[in-house]
Amino acid sequence: MSRSEDLPLHHLFHPDNVSEYAATVRGGLDHLAGHLDRVTGPATGVGPERAAKPVRDVDLDSPLGDTAAALDEVSRLWLDDAVWFHEPGYAAHLNCPVVVPALLGELLISSVNSSLDTFDQSVGGTFIERQLIDWTAARIGWDTSDSDGVFTSGGSQSNLHALLLARGHIMARGAELASLRIFASADSHFSVQKSARLLGLGDAAVVAVPTDERRRMDIVALGRALAECDAAGLVPMAVVATAGTTDFGAIDPLPEIAGLCRTYGAWFHVDAAYGGGLLASTRRRHLLSGVEKADSVTIDYHKTWFQPVSSSAVLVRDAGTMGHASYYADYLNPKESADPNQVDKSLQTTRRFDALKLWLTLRIMGPDTIGAYFDAVIDLAAEVHDAIAPAADIEVAARPNLSTLVFRYAPAGSGEDELALLNTKIRATLYARGRAMVAATKVDGRQFLKFTLLNPKATLADIVGIVDQIRSIGEELVCEQIAAQPVVSPYVLAGRDIGLLVPAGVAR
Ligand SMILES: *Cc1c(COP(=O)(O)O)cnc(C)c1O
Repeated sequence: MSRSEDLPLHHLFHPDNVSEYAATVRGGLDHLAGHLDRVTGPATGVGPERAAKPVRDVDLDSPLGDTAAALDEVSRLWLDDAVWFHEPGYAAHLNCPVVVPALLGELLISSVNSSLDTFDQSVGGTFIERQLIDWTAARIGWDTSDSDGVFTSGGSQSNLHALLLARGHIMARGAELASLRIFASADSHFSVQKSARLLGLGDAAVVAVPTDERRRMDIVALGRALAECDAAGLVPMAVVATAGTTDFGAIDPLPEIAGLCRTYGAWFHVDAAYGGGLLASTRRRHLLSGVEKADSVTIDYHKTWFQPVSSSAVLVRDAGTMGHASYYADYLNPKESADPNQVDKSLQTTRRFDALKLWLTLRIMGPDTIGAYFDAVIDLAAEVHDAIAPAADIEVAARPNLSTLVFRYAPAGSGEDELALLNTKIRATLYARGRAMVAATKVDGRQFLKFTLLNPKATLADIVGIVDQIRSIGEELVCEQIAAQPVVSPYVLAGRDIGLLVPAGVAR
């Protein structure tokens, strides 16, 4: 299109178009608020096929040209069947309901569209991010005149970044790539394995350290594994301690691991993607004791700090180590530039000003409220455990450490295969009925269900209510002996095999 009088410039964010901007955003706000009024559960139970079809049918070359119509379409394609993390029946993955001050941040971030790669694209934004990094580092217990870090897209990127620095650090001392080993507990996050692949180390470079009876990294086993690595002439590049494992919320013994890292010259990374919210807790900060001994730490603000995706950071005790990820480009951040350019430290170039969300959260609510939210869901998990553990037909895998609870419906006399099918079908039916969502996991090869509780508004009655639904679905399934049928996929199950179990009018 050539530049002409007809070019519809009112679509641009611009002082000339403030009323258009405000009306559009307000329209979206009203639309969403109206929608929230109609939400009756965490999900509607739609499977991939039904979700894909209406999206595929949209012709992207034929614009609607009208905001209200586009919003109605978005409702049909997405919102009507979206999964809502603020619903007390949502207890599946590590998704949090988000705090309102952070949403105000989202509006400002994307409207102004600062990019945090260079100072000349962000100005004050660079310093807001840096101050939040320092603030978090101080809570870790570091001297902030030495420490550093940067916001990332998530815990997976933070872990990759930390391991990249660890690799750079050890290779600068002459180690060969093929000799490098990473030690992480058997319950550590899969992003450690993925990082090893991306870093050219391969799957075999990650040594899975067994866990103890509390599902924490077994420190004796770690010592043995490090000694074997050493004896084989290999190089222990890093030990990844998990502070809050995804399934059990277990916090590996940080001080002891730090000691072994010192002995063997290994980089000490703490993956606190889940447990990082303890830094804001006034009651449970001690659970992270030893984190201050880490060389690097992953924090996911978009999990236990109630921030919208994305908001995460990788932090390092020694700022100099950030240089292992630095690259200087003449057109962006020339080496001779005196500007404080965050791209010098980041794996990304153009980068969202996610830090503003946390900033507004701290300035409006304060850290103690965030910590109290996390404490509330940790308390809730313990109460739920105590309420359901005595039931004869419920098996809990372990007492909760943080806000997860691994359990299953286990009526007397059922074999392992039967329990696996039964619980898989229970989970699919729960989703199909739309009133509650739980996750699934395996414990030593055995199929379980999992609550991940991150909603501080959820009550004991809400969560025990989900267990009641699980039990009643389980009883129906056992009655109808449906558990004998093979599992295809939870969605197929939800739509077909157990369609009879979905009350009419619930799943559309
Ligand atoms: C969620 C999680 C990650 C990955 O974080 P993302 O933000 O999802 O990329 C890494 N480690 C642990 C322990 C986690 O719980």
